[in-house]
Amino acid sequence: MTRFAQDGRRAIFWEEPVTGIDPVPALDVRPCPQSGVLVATPVLPDGLSGAEREAAQRRLLDNLLAAHPGDLIRWYYTPMMLGFSGHLDAACTVYDCMDELANFKFAPPELAGRERDLFAAADVVFTGGHSLYEAKRDRHPNIHPFPSSVDRAHFARARDGEAEPLDLAGLPRPRFGFYGVVDERMDLDLLAAIADARPEWSLAIVGPVVKIDPADLPRRDNLHYLGGKGYEELPAYLGSWDVALMPFAINESTRFISPTKTPEYLAGGRPVVSTPIVDVLRHYGDLQAVKIADTAEAFVAACDEALALARSDRVWLEEVDRALAQLSWDETFQRMNGLIGEVFTRRESEAAAVLAKTIPAPVVRTAGRRRPYDYLIVGAGYAGSVLAERLASGLGKRVLLIDRREHIGGNAYDEKDAAGVLMHRYGPHIFHTNSDEVAGYLSHFTRWRPYEHRVLASVRDGLLAPMPINRTTLNALYGLNLATEADAEAFLESRAEPVEKIRTSEDVVVSKVGRELYETFFRGYTRKQWAMDPSELDKSVTARVPTRTNTDDRYFTDKFQAMPADGYTRMFENMLDHPLITVETGVDFDDVSDEAAYDRLIYTGPIDEYFGHRYGPLPYRSLRFRHETLEQPWFQRVGTVNYPDESVPYTRISEYKHMTGQVNPRTTVTYEYPAAEGDPYYPVPRPENQALYKRYEALALDAPEVTFVGRLATYRYYNMDQVVGQALATYRRIAAREGRLEGAAARGAAAAAG
Ligand code: FAD
Ligand code: UDP
Repeated sequence: MTRFAQDGRRAIFWEEPVTGIDPVPALDVRPCPQSGVLVATPVLPDGLSGAEREAAQRRLLDNLLAAHPGDLIRWYYTPMMLGFSGHLDAACTVYDCMDELANFKFAPPELAGRERDLFAAADVVFTGGHSLYEAKRDRHPNIHPFPSSVDRAHFARARDGEAEPLDLAGLPRPRFGFYGVVDERMDLDLLAAIADARPEWSLAIVGPVVKIDPADLPRRDNLHYLGGKGYEELPAYLGSWDVALMPFAINESTRFISPTKTPEYLAGGRPVVSTPIVDVLRHYGDLQAVKIADTAEAFVAACDEALALARSDRVWLEEVDRALAQLSWDETFQRMNGLIGEVFTRRESEAAAVLAKTIPAPVVRTAGRRRPYDYLIVGAGYAGSVLAERLASGLGKRVLLIDRREHIGGNAYDEKDAAGVLMHRYGPHIFHTNSDEVAGYLSHFTRWRPYEHRVLASVRDGLLAPMPINRTTLNALYGLNLATEADAEAFLESRAEPVEKIRTSEDVVVSKVGRELYETFFRGYTRKQWAMDPSELDKSVTARVPTRTNTDDRYFTDKFQAMPADGYTRMFENMLDHPLITVETGVDFDDVSDEAAYDRLIYTGPIDEYFGHRYGPLPYRSLRFRHETLEQPWFQRVGTVNYPDESVPYTRISEYKHMTGQVNPRTTVTYEYPAAEGDPYYPVPRPENQALYKRYEALALDAPEVTFVGRLATYRYYNMDQVVGQALATYRRIAAREGRLEGAAARGAAAAAG
């Protein structure tokens, strides 16, 4: 961080908020005298809710950053800070994971979800030790262990006889000391046992007491709690002890710690006695100066040995110094900086590749946007493209269709990757519908390849079972032999839990299949996908996935199930291939709203964005996709394998060749990592979100010159065919208004148009 400041970059360290008396949130910003890093402390009024605290911090942070323009590197030590900074546009996001915070006392319940989001958002992840690295390495493709280093010169002062701190003066020797936070990770019984076993020793504990009640600390005449001290003072304390201690409890909260104080104690020339912390054993367990003991008795004996060592000649220190010689923060800095540099380079080349890529379309005409148009349509996904086609072909309207992405097709966009495999940039899209009208309409623009999607869920011990749950799933999971639908029905009934009123996504499933199957197939998946428990989500979400008592293992049962034979993008190109349609991609509504000449507007982007988030943002869930091309013809048995287990960071893996029928010696798969930030993919069905949407809808109704259509503009968790249906219905209303529909159809549609 210091180096960033020296580089001409400004490093800002955002602290936990403190409570102030002022009713208005404020930010206390001051430069650190040594490093120049700006330390920013939010000062918030008392009594704010969690959401209000986040909103206040977000505003304070936005203001601060506005004063420091330029590329932003976001650097997170805790996922909790994502809540008020997740919206920031960063050139690089670093997750510097220092501990398994979820195992800590009072860990907020949303931490796991936030961490998932941070993994999804991060470009690079550092872990504060090897054990942590091993625990997290499956969660990010660009993750690197960074065990603690040490400022040797700083702590070596402890060897030079620094002046003894006043609060230690007069304490009898030998002295044993610990510095660091005193919290649930400290083994308080062990501390008491050492004090009792050797009343003649002095034990000095330096550090703030956090999260535990000071009244719970063991009190003994020879046990001294000295409170927190500054980094500058630590060598003086260390230098006045004979032996340094790490009396950590061995439990979940210390499973992944990699205490920085180990090399610091050693650099200060003190032998160390520790309980068996994995990373201490791993990195320092072989040193004569480090004693590991796992019971109180053994710990006291190890303290005896360490004391003898401290009083012996200083030969043992040579081994210590050899071990520490490799450690330097400069080295750590160089390696981290190199990894961040790689992110920048990768981003730049990706941006260049995007710019270089042209859509191989016959249709995308870029003509002057100043030409007068009858309609400006924002968004070239299904909603926008269907309406463009209908208005041009059906009503002879001149249409300007824009999209801020550099391609048409919206989320259904597909393209051939470097291996020539047709894949979906925004995750697998499988077309299915019961609507003759929708299938018939799209068939004007594509031939179809029949395809029925099949999904397996990877459950315990790697068992792959059909999803939706059917009779085969039950037999496989429970080693049963349910032969008929009635058998399966009876089995499910015996497990189902009656629910009086089905309101939530939990109710829907538990009332049908019981808690165990719900937990196996739905709870983890849903928590990952939506970052909330199914009990907090509207029933419509999991109701999308039925339960079956037969052995039908298709994901959908619609009467029309097929993939466009030449891909979705080609279908959109054909749809937009009309002389009255002008398509401009890579163009945001903001770029043209003043400049373009048009009579009416059709908007298919997020409705809250259109109204400047006037009532606050509507929640959307996003995804991060990891596309991988493999040097093998096939990866998995079916189009999609779901991973409901919460410990797996992605929700599903999809393999496109199953869907497209393409023949290729290689295969491409996509992993989906749910995320809080990123493109808005999923409206989040919850009553309060629906209520917020209704407020925006009221604004929309007050703006009859604009038509809002599509998944984002009407905040509905719609499938492709539903959006096509919605767009066709919208077209009918427009046509009716224009008097182009005959008789009863026109009256009906016009009435619906309001
Ligand atoms: P979009 O496709 O989102 O198009 C809106 C367009 O508007 C976007 O391209 C956006 O860039 C553009 N835009 C927004 N704001 C602006 C602005 N201010 N200026 C310019 N342009 C703007 N449906 C299925 O039927 N089957 C599936 O298997 C399926 N799988 C899915 C998998 C995933 C991962 C996701 C996210 C969705 C899936 N869907 C599936 C749903 C399907 O993607 C949507 O129903 C459909 O794409 C919605 O079309 P739309 O036109 O409403 O929105
Ligand atoms: N779901 C689940 N387990 C699964 C599949 C789905 O819990 O194996 C839940 C989850 O909440 C998901 C919802 O059902 O978001 C709808 O699933 P669908 O496959 O329709 O999701 P989509 O394709 O829209 O992402």
